[in-house]
Amino acid sequence: MESKAIQGSCLCGAVHYKITKPIIFFKYCHCSRCQKNSGTAHAANILVKTDQFQWTQGEQGVTRFELPTAKFFCTAFCNTCGSNMPWKTKNEKYYLIPAGSLDEDPEASPSANVFWKYHAPWYKDVADLPKHEEES
Ligand SMILES: [Zn+2]
Ligand SMILES: [Zn+2]
Repeated sequence: MESKAIQGSCLCGAVHYKITKPIIFFKYCHCSRCQKNSGTAHAANILVKTDQFQWTQGEQGVTRFELPTAKFFCTAFCNTCGSNMPWKTKNEKYYLIPAGSLDEDPEASPSANVFWKYHAPWYKDVADLPKHEEES
């Protein structure tokens, strides 16, 4: 099946990758690991199969961290700018893509909030906040 690649990269531009659809899932994850790793209330996680993911530049500049206590969870980041980067699940079947690192619209949106039980006590639904086009 022909599928157009969706490009992604880190903040400094050293690392580039691409994914193809179909996306297996796209979810906001509120687990404590995603809070720690993202530094914010939740992650925006896209899952694809391993063969739908490809580094296109700078793979050697990516550090992978395997959380010893986790079954699947890892992290990966650009050695230069620290941006979260995609990581292969420990069972090597999937890549977890931090949606904010995409350079193009995946033309899909999150379908659920998962691990809501652990959500940050300060979290407020974005729909409940005023929206400013730029900083205010
Ligand atoms: Zn970078
Ligand atoms: Zn999580």
